[in-house]
Amino acid sequence: MISKEIAKTLEDKLRRDTSSLKELGITPTLAILSLADEESSAGLESYLKSIRRKAKSIGIEVIHNSSSSSRELLETLDKLSSSENVNGILILKPLPDELIREIPHRIPPLKDIECISLENMGLLFSGHPRFTPPTPEGVMKLLRGWDIPLEGKRVVVIGRSLNVGRPLALMLLSENATVTIAHSRTIDLTALSREADILVSAVGKPEFIREEHIKEGAIVIDLGVNSVNGRLVGDVHLESVIEVASLVTPVKGGVGPLTTLSLLENVLKATKIQLQIKS
Ligand code: NAP
Repeated sequence: MISKEIAKTLEDKLRRDTSSLKELGITPTLAILSLADEESSAGLESYLKSIRRKAKSIGIEVIHNSSSSSRELLETLDKLSSSENVNGILILKPLPDELIREIPHRIPPLKDIECISLENMGLLFSGHPRFTPPTPEGVMKLLRGWDIPLEGKRVVVIGRSLNVGRPLALMLLSENATVTIAHSRTIDLTALSREADILVSAVGKPEFIREEHIKEGAIVIDLGVNSVNGRLVGDVHLESVIEVASLVTPVKGGVGPLTTLSLLENVLKATKIQLQIKS
């Protein structure tokens, strides 16, 4: 199955789930918070647009609230946290450091559809997640959809961010892969990457991964989203890597659509948990 088909199957399922909730008089609602100063970035605008489009097609209501300061954003977060009409909360990045530190303590775990609260991160760490973070979940859905067995596979994840690299490594570990996390201080990244049956790049540097990083026949998942002269470019230099790898995800239509759908899947999950509805 190509990633488009995997996404279509999931989207159809989410639409059916929303219809069942609507029959009970429930409209799942996602609240998106952001800081007004940061909204002009092209990546953020297109992410917001794709969430709105998919949510509409699935039947999820979206409220967007833009704040002019960190204090205002936290006040809005507190208000939405206690609102019965909001089921999931997404706080768009970039954010200042003080918010990055505060939000994991403040967001209510049952509405935390990005899995950034300390409680939900702890559950993920323990191997019994309530929610899984959308981008790593998108990768797992892609690998499952491609029928790629993970047990015993050597996986190298480049990037150790809290929203992508680290949780993805944990999720791969839960599927019995042997996982190594690489980062900017890793020594001899080329040699390490060449050991990978599956190489995931979440670095954010255009065309950083090249032929010399890839083992013959490896699967390469490119999570990088970089803008170069207005052109969208991944972390992977596609032309050279494609000669050696057996599969490479494209920057457009790769994991991205599955990330958005996984986020919306969490909104439905959150709604059901809050209203104690069995799946
Ligand atoms: P991030 O927080 O900036 O993390 C980047 C990671 O790359 C860090 O761990 C950093 O290491 C590592 N790194 C930087 N330079 C390196 C080098 N030379 N060698 C090895 N590792 C290096 O970014 P992020 O939020 O994880 O996002 C990563 C990329 O994925 C971005 O392009 C972002 O736009 C994209 N993204 C895509 C999706 C999607 O659905 N496709 C979703 C979210 C993000 P240190 O920790 O040592 O600094």
